[in-house]
Amino acid sequence: MKQCSGCKKEKPLDEFSKDKSKKDGLRTQCKECSKQNQKQYRKINKEKLNEYHRQYRSNGGRHADKPYVYFAYHNGNYYIGSTKYRWTERFSKHKHSAATGLGHYINEHNLSKEDFEVKRFSFETIEEARDAEKSYLCECVGQKGCLNKNK
Ligand SMILES: [Zn+2]
Repeated sequence: MKQCSGCKKEKPLDEFSKDKSKKDGLRTQCKECSKQNQKQYRKINKEKLNEYHRQYRSNGGRHADKPYVYFAYHNGNYYIGSTKYRWTERFSKHKHSAATGLGHYINEHNLSKEDFEVKRFSFETIEEARDAEKSYLCECVGQKGCLNKNK
């Protein structure tokens, strides 16, 4: 049995998908929670995100060390942000600042960075990333599951 970092339920190991990057070889969130995250993701993803991503790829861009927009998922909730820093750094910044919706959520649920499923979309410049972030926020702030507070 293993406790899911999303719903906090104890579940049999086959309720968790494999993930080689994790110590025990399994995701921290159960399949049910991952499915929820995916659902949220598809809802906001739509055409726009694909288009940004297509454009980015056609520019021959690489993904390493570029500014990016991130979607951090946990238990059907998500936070949208943009940064040029690594997720590890970004996370600890949030953790120590309860001012952001995410910081508050992290501390309320006592979460670590591994508890989140993070999806990234890279851009050439931080300005492009911020623009993209803004348009996602317009669609998402105030919607169910969105942890962002303002646009
Ligand atoms: Zn779960």
